[in-house]
Amino acid sequence: MGTQDQRLTKDELDSPSLSQELVSLQLLSGRALRGTWLRPHPSRPTWVYIEDAVLLYNEQGEILSLIEVENWLRQYPSLSLPSVHRPGAVWLPGFVDTHVHYPQTNIIGSASGPLLDWLETSVFPEESKFAHDQYAQLVADRFTDSLLRNGTTCAAVFSSSHVSATDLLFKTFAATGLSGEIGLTLMDRGAPAAVLCEASEALAGSERLIESWHGYDEGRLGFCVTPRFGLSCTPELLRGAGRLAQDHQLMVQTHISENRAELVATSEAFPTAKDYLGVYEDLGLLHERSLFAHCIWLSEDEWRRFQAAEAAVAHCPDSNFFLGSGQMPLSEVRSREVRMGLGSDVGAGRSFSMRKACARAYDASRITESAVTPQELLWYATRGGAIALHRPRLGALEPGSFADVVAITPPPAIGQEDLSLGERGLDTLISQLIFCEDWQGTEEVICRGISRWERDE
Ligand SMILES: [Zn+2]
Repeated sequence: MGTQDQRLTKDELDSPSLSQELVSLQLLSGRALRGTWLRPHPSRPTWVYIEDAVLLYNEQGEILSLIEVENWLRQYPSLSLPSVHRPGAVWLPGFVDTHVHYPQTNIIGSASGPLLDWLETSVFPEESKFAHDQYAQLVADRFTDSLLRNGTTCAAVFSSSHVSATDLLFKTFAATGLSGEIGLTLMDRGAPAAVLCEASEALAGSERLIESWHGYDEGRLGFCVTPRFGLSCTPELLRGAGRLAQDHQLMVQTHISENRAELVATSEAFPTAKDYLGVYEDLGLLHERSLFAHCIWLSEDEWRRFQAAEAAVAHCPDSNFFLGSGQMPLSEVRSREVRMGLGSDVGAGRSFSMRKACARAYDASRITESAVTPQELLWYATRGGAIALHRPRLGALEPGSFADVVAITPPPAIGQEDLSLGERGLDTLISQLIFCEDWQGTEEVICRGISRWERDE
């Protein structure tokens, strides 16, 4: 990233000035967070580094402004500056995980791939346990804690096929302050009976969950229509899912084109579909609110239709490595300007950390095509994910955004006392922030202005 980009960005992002009364009120109420900041550009994958600034937010946890200390001293000379919160750490918007499976929390790291074997051996037996609320709640607690401790403040989540377990997950998200797109996983064939739910029952259950949760807390929680994938749904269920999304203008999330054997089985299960994307296209599931995980083996024509429909990609490189699925062609996404977020895809992904997802995406791109930059990856893991989920108030530090932020400590530059960029420069700082996870890592996570997780000292 050139320095010109950064300078332009900084100018564009100049905050409106706030009245002294308003600033003073937030200060007195403790709604001022001073530290070192990485601020993403709202629409381009670049970052601005601000060594010392104060984030002000209101009672509703909405950002009012991010004010550089030198501007503060000029504009509000009579107001005292708050002290730096977590010196040595860098603050940035919380991560957005665009693809993760809550009922796979307990089987993370189970090496039984490739995909179809892994589903049969590790996933379906585990997901059947979510018929029991007590177990579902234990996992929901672990799941939300795992997101927070890795700095993730919003996630697009596949639940199990059980309405009650999904309701519990929504409740747990509400209690922990996390934001999310959460879906009842739809499946009515191709798996053991214990994880199947007949189409009319699954759609009626979805309607109840929409009624209870969709749009909760100013839209921080959303219901997402979630057919697992073509192989586990009858055309009748997929058609009903498409209608449900249309009727309520909901997001849709599913998997596509992950594994070669899955491709063959899908074309046999849907003999009249043009190709894999055609399965979803024919049944009302391809549009600008659709989010597709993997996208590894899409044809040129599928990419063209994908782009035309303005659908989004959830890129899950760690899962793709672990199940030996293949490599999503990042060059297609970038050249076609397709919206994309990164996904942990736990439990096929081995970590809830979006920083690990960045590292895997970097490694894969380095080997197979021109390397994506760490700045781009960090942006995809935050702001890019928010855009993929149609959540304009997330992944940003703009006035009106939710104050969802995370503090991460990068390895300090040796021989340097402060966090000034110095010889390290912005690109290296961001590289070390996302790739050097064996340093201290996540320090604190704040959702809507409220501290939700802190590292034990
Ligand atoms: Zn998945």
